[in-house]
Amino acid sequence: MASQDTISQIRSRIDIVELIGGYVSLKKMGKYFKSPCPFHQEKTPSFVVSPDRQRWHCFGACHEGGDIFTFLMKWDNLTFPEAIMELGKRAGISVEDLKSGAPASDAEARTKSQIFEINELAARYYHYVLTKDAHGAAGCTYLETRRVSDAIASSFCLGYAPESWDNLVQYLHKKGYDDATLLASGMCVEGTRGLYDRFRGRLMFPIYNTLEQVIGFSGRLIAKSPDGKEQAKYVNTPETLVYHKRESLYGIHKAKDAIRKSGSVIVVEGEFDMITPFAHGIENIVAIKGSAFTTEQLKTLKRYAHKLIFALDADPAGIAALKKTIPLAQGFEFELYVLAIPDGKDPDEAVKHDFVSFKRALEHCVPVYDFIIDQQLTSLNLKDPFSKNEFAEGILPIIDVIKNPIVKQHYMQRISSALELDQSSVLNLQYMLRQKKKTPHAYAQTTEASKTTSQSRYDLLQKYVLAMAITAANPSQMIQTLQKYLESADFTQPPYAQLFEYITSPEVAVIALATGVPNHLRDLYDELYLYPSVLPDSDAQPSYERTVLELAKIATTAVLKKAVSEPEGDVDAVITAAQKRLSILNLASISTSP
Ligand SMILES: [Zn+2]
Repeated sequence: MASQDTISQIRSRIDIVELIGGYVSLKKMGKYFKSPCPFHQEKTPSFVVSPDRQRWHCFGACHEGGDIFTFLMKWDNLTFPEAIMELGKRAGISVEDLKSGAPASDAEARTKSQIFEINELAARYYHYVLTKDAHGAAGCTYLETRRVSDAIASSFCLGYAPESWDNLVQYLHKKGYDDATLLASGMCVEGTRGLYDRFRGRLMFPIYNTLEQVIGFSGRLIAKSPDGKEQAKYVNTPETLVYHKRESLYGIHKAKDAIRKSGSVIVVEGEFDMITPFAHGIENIVAIKGSAFTTEQLKTLKRYAHKLIFALDADPAGIAALKKTIPLAQGFEFELYVLAIPDGKDPDEAVKHDFVSFKRALEHCVPVYDFIIDQQLTSLNLKDPFSKNEFAEGILPIIDVIKNPIVKQHYMQRISSALELDQSSVLNLQYMLRQKKKTPHAYAQTTEASKTTSQSRYDLLQKYVLAMAITAANPSQMIQTLQKYLESADFTQPPYAQLFEYITSPEVAVIALATGVPNHLRDLYDELYLYPSVLPDSDAQPSYERTVLELAKIATTAVLKKAVSEPEGDVDAVITAAQKRLSILNLASISTSP
């Protein structure tokens, strides 16, 4: 592992706001930066970054936080050593320094990096067979029929897996990899007579991640197998430590710069559909396997683009997949378009057939909602009232997820005029559909809300009073208020109690609160430091003293309740003390009344 010294060097050279701002759009709010959380779907921004503390925290569903390293680990699914490598490179620290004392302790990280090596070697091996070896002739002939140039084959490192049984296994054994690692890489399969190659007699497409590492392969059958057995057209790497089908985007390593530059990405279904337009200069393009998007893929694309152009099959299955993707993509606030390819060809054929028409179609790609409305309009007879209903039920849920009110209104108008109905009838139907859909959801919300009333209020106040004290410009007075009414036993979680003790202890210099935090309280301190940023406007909050008093009363009442329900020790004394404390607190409340 890189030394502590290297790690702190990286920390000092990379600003957290700049780093995270490169992935999500942060808005400055007071001394914090905020955004909707990139790690869960939400509408209100509960993801907070603090330049002072160089920390981030999600106060929404994730409830996680950390520094530059943990952010990148979570974002790119990296291990700590990998995050150090990546950020170290950005900070301009030499790779040798970063590697010094490689992470031998972390077995998983070691296997991961060996799998990357194996994948890289396999990619080069297959490419060699394709371009230099007689066994690759079948692959070459096939690429010629698909009109893929040598330059493109090299640039995408296309390859050919020979028809033999275990050529790759032998090659990798010679390179020193043991059976366990080869199996973990997914390149080999265990048979009764030892390992054999997973990919045989196939054109090989290495799949890369955004860091340009080979994560896996897609192998395409190009001829019938010699024994005449039926075989799958495509074989893919199984899930491994580095290959996760849900995350993979074919071509992203080549396309990401063009995607970032243009802010838009064209999404196609197959490898050739990606490669051919790319070879013709349309470089902001990636392929997904199958037609359904995953959240993980959208999350990756959101780093580079705000406009998503679907060039997927316009058959019923393709349209069904498209409809499923829309709410998902809406969650990431993509602008969604459909590229309607002339003559129903796939992008590979269309580009080779008539590039000019393809480019024109691309320039005239239509918003996804118009595309779906048009599709439905042509397939239904809208003179018939039942068809009208079918049309509305098919289209309204999709329009309903549009966030922008102007865009939404535009489509509501389009729908009502297509149906020859006034907008209020359409709105009515939309309302009914929404109710139908919302029932289970609404239930979840109410149970959540009722939970916030009692115990959570207690939890919330504990968090609040500590957070306000540590973030105050001049915390002395708040700390005095804390000392006046509260004791550490009022805090239900031990770390909260300890933090209370820390900030109220007479030895702590108020001006140096942050620097003196004991190590084990550091994470909590950072979380609380960022917490006020997600609270509603402070003008609407009651005074600090009143809040502290409320907390003290809740805590005392809890003591009373417990003494009665689970009597233990000198119950009378406990009850008397609690009652006395309550009356003092009540008196104090009256005197602080506004
Ligand atoms: Zn979150």
